[in-house]
Amino acid sequence: MFKIQNYINGQMIAPTEGRYLDNYEPATGKVYSLIPHSGKQDIDLAVKAARKAFPYWSSLKNTERSAWLQKISETIDKKLASLAAAESKDNGKPLKLATKVDIPRARDNFGFYASAIKHFASESHQTSEGVINYTLRQAIGVAACISPWNLPLYLFSWKIAPALAAGNTVVAKPSEVTPMTAYLLAEICMEIGLPAGVLNIVHGLGAEAGNELVSNDDIDMVSFTGGTQTGERIAKIIAPKFKKMSLELGGKNPNIIFDDCDFENALKTTMHSSFANQGQICLCGSRIYIQRGIYKKFRDAFVEKTKRRIVGPPQNENSQMGAIVSKAHYDKILSYIELAKEEGGSVLAGGKSLSLGGEHAEGWFIAPTIIEGLDEACRTNQEEIFGPVVTIQPFDTEEEAVALANSTSYGLAATIWTESLSKAHRVSHQLHSGIVWVNCWLLRDLRTPFGGVKNSGVGREGGWEALHFFTEPKNICIKFDE
Ligand code: NDP
Repeated sequence: MFKIQNYINGQMIAPTEGRYLDNYEPATGKVYSLIPHSGKQDIDLAVKAARKAFPYWSSLKNTERSAWLQKISETIDKKLASLAAAESKDNGKPLKLATKVDIPRARDNFGFYASAIKHFASESHQTSEGVINYTLRQAIGVAACISPWNLPLYLFSWKIAPALAAGNTVVAKPSEVTPMTAYLLAEICMEIGLPAGVLNIVHGLGAEAGNELVSNDDIDMVSFTGGTQTGERIAKIIAPKFKKMSLELGGKNPNIIFDDCDFENALKTTMHSSFANQGQICLCGSRIYIQRGIYKKFRDAFVEKTKRRIVGPPQNENSQMGAIVSKAHYDKILSYIELAKEEGGSVLAGGKSLSLGGEHAEGWFIAPTIIEGLDEACRTNQEEIFGPVVTIQPFDTEEEAVALANSTSYGLAATIWTESLSKAHRVSHQLHSGIVWVNCWLLRDLRTPFGGVKNSGVGREGGWEALHFFTEPKNICIKFDE
């Protein structure tokens, strides 16, 4: 069976203890490759390689690092079709989605930071005649980058690209659940001859390899995307060492749909924001609040469309949804559907697993699910499910909508649907959320700050925010003769 390898110091190497983990194809439920079950020794090797490469890499001109990132971006583009096929097989997401969204975005992440670093500038402040301050923004050292399984190469590259552009070297750990495109990225780095040790990719379990990485005293910062509980564990290790950390965590995002919205647009986009990538996007809206005047009409149309949504093999052109990423996650989503029923919710659509038969008989498929009749305090409406399950609820006033939206411990993203400009501004300003979309969803501009408030994280990614995170500012004040 095919064995993925670690990428350390410019080479593909087997895990030092020779242990491997099974890698499953979600659409069939079968093991199709093996991945390194790395431990402390592998992490130590990778961190040493990154440390050794740091003086060289950080001393390159920005334009030289930019050229390396650009090469990675162009090679991803050349291999787009095979990378998309690998991502779809490894994650269970529709091939169409991986081809249109995941891999192009990974390409663009490298391309964006290849360009951004050429335009990155720092400040200077003239204090008075004869006194000037200027701020250096210097690379820090070895960055530990840890990413989740939902958008594997997309989120992996979203951290690696700015870290490298800023002059740091990197040890990265992809999710053990979806390791394949990180491995293929390592192949690309070898193919283009990226200098040894600049990027190191170590595979393994979060609780072992991931934990060893963040606990290693020779890393300088951590950029993490994943669940809130894992973020808390990492913060407990990193905070007392006073190292920089950026934590992009879970969400329980509200969609607020007012009576005066563009109904068809709101309905169409709510379908996407509820069920794209099987609802496994941290930005998906999972609590849908609809103003009473259009509640019944919206609910009925939404239920009708959801029942017609095609869940099928990821490779099929007409599949709108694929498989859930792992058996453990599939079980977790189904248990939340049961919880919703116990809490008094009515299932209006879906609410069950699906068996596609044939070679997909053992695949992990769940029907898109809508639940009605729950109040905001119940666990279904408070806890992140991270699957194709949404709740719907009516509201009467703007104040009530804001209170409902802000009623969880999370604060990542929100959407507002209204044709009133004043209302859009008013409500946006009151939401406890890092990101607000008005009359749209997931419309991304890579220059904008990305991240959440409350239990959704600490810090921001994107644009200059990421380059600020991956550099250390040093202010230099000079007094000179007048
Ligand atoms: P996890 O927190 O379980 O895992 C995230 C990453 O951390 C994985 O690579 C995992 O490895 C690793 N990890 C797990 N435990 C540790 C540890 N103790 N120390 C170091 N690393 C560890 O999240 P999921 O992969 O399940 O991803 C889903 C979560 O990610 C959801 O909560 C979702 O909201 C959030 N997310 C947030 C985004 C944002 O931008 N705010 C974007 C996308 C997702 P392994 O998988 O190998 O165990």
